[in-house]
Amino acid sequence: MALLSPRIEAGAVNIQSPMEKSVNKIVIIGSGCAGLTAAIYTARADLNPVVVDGYEPGGQLALTTLVENFPGFTDGILGPEFIERSRKQAERFGAQFRSGAVSSVDLSRRPFKIVAGKETYESEALIIAAGASARMLGIESEKLLLGYGVSTCATCDGYFFRDREILVVGGGDTAMEEATFLTKFAKRVTIVHRRNEFRATKIMLDRARANEKIRFLTPYVVEEVHNIANKAVESVTLRNVQSNQAEQVEVEGVFVAIGHDPNTKVFLGKLDMDDAGYILTHNGPLTSVAGVFAAGDVQDHRYRQAITAAGSGCMAAMEAEKFLAEHKS
Ligand code: NAP
Repeated sequence: MALLSPRIEAGAVNIQSPMEKSVNKIVIIGSGCAGLTAAIYTARADLNPVVVDGYEPGGQLALTTLVENFPGFTDGILGPEFIERSRKQAERFGAQFRSGAVSSVDLSRRPFKIVAGKETYESEALIIAAGASARMLGIESEKLLLGYGVSTCATCDGYFFRDREILVVGGGDTAMEEATFLTKFAKRVTIVHRRNEFRATKIMLDRARANEKIRFLTPYVVEEVHNIANKAVESVTLRNVQSNQAEQVEVEGVFVAIGHDPNTKVFLGKLDMDDAGYILTHNGPLTSVAGVFAAGDVQDHRYRQAITAAGSGCMAAMEAEKFLAEHKS
């Protein structure tokens, strides 16, 4: 059995255990950068937050390698280490972590009900920081080389590919944007797309086409990323979907840019969302239900950075604290 943090063992904080079916002041769904920041702030405000981990504990940062653009880490910090430290920081102030993915919620009245695994949590306020998951191609080698040459974030990892040959997969705006950004570093960027027509807007496509460091390969799909044995990307096998011919192309980086899906399915019909499923917020982290706040990638398809997620987690925590003070039960 995992030991509770020393502060909890010493009984220094009065944590309402969901096992006791008591009503929590605040439940946070998601333990990525936004959720952990919200946990640190609400814990320091004595709100005894319960953090429900979600499908991908630690969020996107737990899947990346070196984070070099978060202020304060002169030499960068590994994503998983950053998450681990933030988690311990939240625990130090009394945040409790519960594993399990949320399967349903009742936001129709307070206290809100959140079902995760076999547990039902009740809470006076809720912060949703469940993140968004990058869509992946779904091939085994892509998974094994994630963080070792395969990436889903050009802003995060582009810097490591100076003077390298890079492949970008996708035909939407994200692919065009990532490819264009990567030309700042790369020797050459090849955009591989499964159709001859592009989903990207004309302006983004034209910009990519005008860039002499970018070439297009269509209609191709990525079949395999090599070399798992060397824990590095060395080449890819592409297949032309019209001719069915396979070919090997030497590259040192593969950026999968086929879109993101916000983890919001359980909130469908319960909170206002845009067409892509991102939670609509106003006045910072406020959602269409009073007492429910959203932070991080679950409401942001534009910036998607650790620092912006942390910032919005802080905003959600501060608004939740204000809400609870104004709505004492
Ligand atoms: P998207 O528009 O859904 O495009 C995803 C692309 O990936 C499509 O070309 C799709 O191919 C391809 N794809 C999907 N699954 C695939 C698979 N399994 N294998 C190979 N290819 C696959 O996603 P997005 O580009 O991330 O854009 C999302 C939204 O954000 C859009 O509304 C976009 O305009 C917006 N956005 C705007 C900006 C900007 O304005 N600066 C930047 C980025 C994104 P098919 O076309 O064949 O389906």
